[in-house]
Amino acid sequence: MTIRDKEFEPYIFEEQILTRIREISRDVNKSYAEKNPLFVSVLNGSFMFAADLMKEISIRSEISFVKFSSYQNMDSTGEIKELIGLNDEVKGRDIIIIEDIVDTGHTMHHLLGDIEKFKPASVAICTLLFKPDALKRDIDLEYVGFSIPNKFVVGYGLDYDGYGRNLRDIYQLSESSS
Ligand code: IMP
Repeated sequence: MTIRDKEFEPYIFEEQILTRIREISRDVNKSYAEKNPLFVSVLNGSFMFAADLMKEISIRSEISFVKFSSYQNMDSTGEIKELIGLNDEVKGRDIIIIEDIVDTGHTMHHLLGDIEKFKPASVAICTLLFKPDALKRDIDLEYVGFSIPNKFVVGYGLDYDGYGRNLRDIYQLSESSS
C-alpha cells in the first residue's frame, strides 16, 4: 500500500487488535471496578483505539479528550506543542491515559507532568503500541497492546503525514522505503 511517497505492508490486523483490546479491557474492568475512572484519550492518534476500547469498558467511567502534537512527518523531535483540553475534572480522579503509541516517550512524559498539576488520585497509561527500542524517558506503562520494533507504522488512527488514520489494520513501513 502506498501512502504519499512511502510503501507500507500489513503488520497487525484489525482482528488481532480487537482481540487484544478485549483482553486489556477485561483487566481494566477488574482493576477499576469501584473507581469510577476518567479515561483521557490523546488525540488525534488514539481516536480509533479509544472508541474500540470504550465499547468493551463495562464499569462506571467517563472519557475526556486532550490534544497536542510533537510529531512532524516521521521524526520525533522532542518538541512539544501546547496541550488543550485538560481541566479540574482530573482532580482526585483515577486517570487512565489512552494513547496510540509510545515512541520516545517525550509526549507521555510531558502529558504526565501536566496531569499531575491537577492532582489526580492516580494515573495509569494504556497504549496500543510501544516501541521499547525508541524509549528515551523513564515511564511506566500499565497496559500495552503490542510491543513493536522501532519501525514506522500507520493505520488504525496512526498517520503518515496526515494520511492513513482511517485504515482498519496497522501497516509497517516496507524495507524498500526505510
Ligand atoms: P513520542 O513522544 O516520541 O513517544 O511520540 C508519540 C507520538 O508520536 C504518538 O502519539 C504518535 O502520534 C507519533 N508517533 C510515534 N511513532 C509513530 C509511528 O510509528 N507512526 C505514526 N505516528 C507515530
